[in-house]
Amino acid sequence: MSVARRFVDLHMHSTASDGAVAPAAVVEAARNAGLIAIALTDHDTLAGIPEARAAGDRLGVRVIAGVELSAVDAAGYETHILGLHIARPEPLQHALDVYRIARRDRAIAIVARLNELGVALSLDAVFAEAGEAAIGRPHVARALVAGGFASDHREVFDRWLGAGRAAFVEKRRLAMAEAFALIHEAGGLAIYAHPGGEGSHERIVALAALGMDGIEVRHPGHAAADIQRLGALAEQLDLLPSGGSDWHGAPSGPRTIGNMDVPEEWLERQEARLRARTASEVLA
Ligand code: AMP
Ligand code: ZN
Ligand code: FE
Ligand code: FE
Repeated sequence: MSVARRFVDLHMHSTASDGAVAPAAVVEAARNAGLIAIALTDHDTLAGIPEARAAGDRLGVRVIAGVELSAVDAAGYETHILGLHIARPEPLQHALDVYRIARRDRAIAIVARLNELGVALSLDAVFAEAGEAAIGRPHVARALVAGGFASDHREVFDRWLGAGRAAFVEKRRLAMAEAFALIHEAGGLAIYAHPGGEGSHERIVALAALGMDGIEVRHPGHAAADIQRLGALAEQLDLLPSGGSDWHGAPSGPRTIGNMDVPEEWLERQEARLRARTASEVLA
């Protein structure tokens, strides 16, 4: 007997971070694409999860609570880590709040440097650009262009905000092991997002030693050869495979919802790993 294959999408963004579509509308699009489950994985925030969950209950789509963190390794190289199956959001939420406040403090420091350099940008103009979002250099750049201090972002980054330029301020960054620990404390699985060609065997082994649980095998940024190689590596190293479209709301193009054919079985394996971990915690 042949059974229709069922698909999931474990990497998606909404307006809670930089997606174009509200959390409920992401779930609706997932239902329309025939997906049985999704993970909402907004950058550095869990704010979209309640709305997505409510929509999922209404539409019959399972919603896995997720997040996408940006962490840096010892060499300062930035890597995205998905936290999937977040069950206890509070400790993670607290850490994310700390980073959000650090970004705000950094914006204040950047504006102070600009003012010292004779650029009369106001902090309020930057805050207005950011609105509810976590403040980043693009918001400062937009405020500078809107204020007539520069003609475009390129000029802003070349003169002031690019790494090493006059008003550049480092941001507080999460270490890899710290990201894994936060995700585990929150009851979740830590997955290396879109490793692509940079996810070498050595790098993946090193991250697994720091506590990483799995790797994204299927992602629109991966060539067919990456998918093959990463899938084999996951099996060989006993890491969980994951995958998703990294949808940001575009109606078409490579990052289209549900186009990654991520099998339901991968989700089931993730859940089995979590159950095994909970069981061993109870025994410990
Ligand atoms: P932040 O997280 O605040 O450091 O801001 C990082 C963002 O700034 C990146 O995602 C880009 O959108 C933008 N950015 C960084 N460097 C440049 C650059 N040289 N030119 C234009 N935008 C840049
Ligand atoms: Zn994004
Ligand atoms: Fe990413
Ligand atoms: Fe993403």
